Amino acid sequence: MKKGVGILLIIIAVVAAVASQPIHQQGLETYLFEDSDKGRIIMTAADLVKYVGIGIGAIGLALLIAGLIKKSDSPAFTPKGGAASTSNKLFCMNCGNALAAEDKFCPNCGESVTKGVT
Ligand SMILES: [Zn+2]
Repeated sequence: MKKGVGILLIIIAVVAAVASQPIHQQGLETYLFEDSDKGRIIMTAADLVKYVGIGIGAIGLALLIAGLIKKSDSPAFTPKGGAASTSNKLFCMNCGNALAAEDKFCPNCGESVTKGVT
């Protein structure tokens, strides 16, 4: 989920960076801020698009890195064995007695334990 958002933001950033180039080349850029005293252009529309693109790309990259760190911290699969059996406790269908994972018959009433039934 987060990885997809990060990739999407990076794609937007790349598109913004590419889109800002023809604006420069065709001379269609609008001067957003101009230093009137020195007659120097401080920022154009193309520059703004580029800077916003870089910002979005940085956020996307940060999200990607954060997602990768989170993934490495928590294991994707729950380990088989003791940890799994405590969360998935079995009970006898006949008397309701708690069963161990390796039990084939209920220790209380002797009913055969059927596994894989939800
Ligand atoms: Zn039983």
